[in-house]
Amino acid sequence: MSETASSVPEPLEPGLYIVATPIGNLGDITMRAADVLRRCDGVACEDTRVTGKLMKHLGISKPLWRYDDHSEHRDRGRLVESMRSRAVALVSDAGTPLVSDPGYRLVNDCRAEGIAVTVLPGPCAAIAGLSVSGLPNDRFLFAGFLPSKDKARRDVLAELADIDSTLIFYETSPRLTKSLAAIRDILPDREIAVGRELTKMHEELRRGLADGLIAWFDAHPPKGEIVLLIGPPLEQLASEADADALLLAALETSKASQAVAQVAKATGLDRKLLYARAMELKRG
Ligand code: SAM
Repeated sequence: MSETASSVPEPLEPGLYIVATPIGNLGDITMRAADVLRRCDGVACEDTRVTGKLMKHLGISKPLWRYDDHSEHRDRGRLVESMRSRAVALVSDAGTPLVSDPGYRLVNDCRAEGIAVTVLPGPCAAIAGLSVSGLPNDRFLFAGFLPSKDKARRDVLAELADIDSTLIFYETSPRLTKSLAAIRDILPDREIAVGRELTKMHEELRRGLADGLIAWFDAHPPKGEIVLLIGPPLEQLASEADADALLLAALETSKASQAVAQVAKATGLDRKLLYARAMELKRG
């Protein structure tokens, strides 16, 4: 992948290029992202060591400048001014810049100064989690990280409780079971998906109700990066297929009797009928 004298890349038009990068699997870099990183004049990034590894993997050597939205206004002003004559790529440590990552102020300043802004879409953990979760995806709301303090976390969940959409959060592994406990208390009847280490070697997707997932993650303490998704309110559950989906999800993490108890609590459906259905589902 390294450049040779005969293949010196064409320079890019000056401006800001927002470049999505892989969320774990380096093979997920897009061809266009690699092309822009190869042709730009320099890369604004969160952590030069992290981006340095990606550049090394691609065989590209460029100046790397540390950037975050809290950088001094003066520094941002200089960076924006430089884009009148330079092509600058903005990347984050992983995924899509500006999605719970820096770049908002930079993009706004570029727009205000008439600097061209070009986007190169690509990997994003929230969207990867939604795609693989199997939760309803016709409407979804991405709400960033849940707060780390319990009261604030519960307030956010209460605020979002009635929204008729799948909710998507970023989460850290040490906080996962605390968040699941808050969801159990505030959104007790909702189906949940936990996507962990997506696209990486230890990728895992667990679906279930809060109780079952808490039991699972208490027994298997999670490590790594997590996307937490909460299905829409149960009023939407109208069909037997919906009850089946809940049962199947609960059976992934719990014994049949516990799964039935969770689904009965969540839906108000008859326990005996649910148990019979759970046995059918288990038999396949
Ligand atoms: N801008 C990034 C994106 O587009 O995915 C997200 C940046 S945010 C600071 C980092 C959070 O994304 C992590 O704490 C985790 O919640 C989530 N995340 C990143 N990579 C992930 C992965 N491979 N699997 C699951 N979640 C991931």
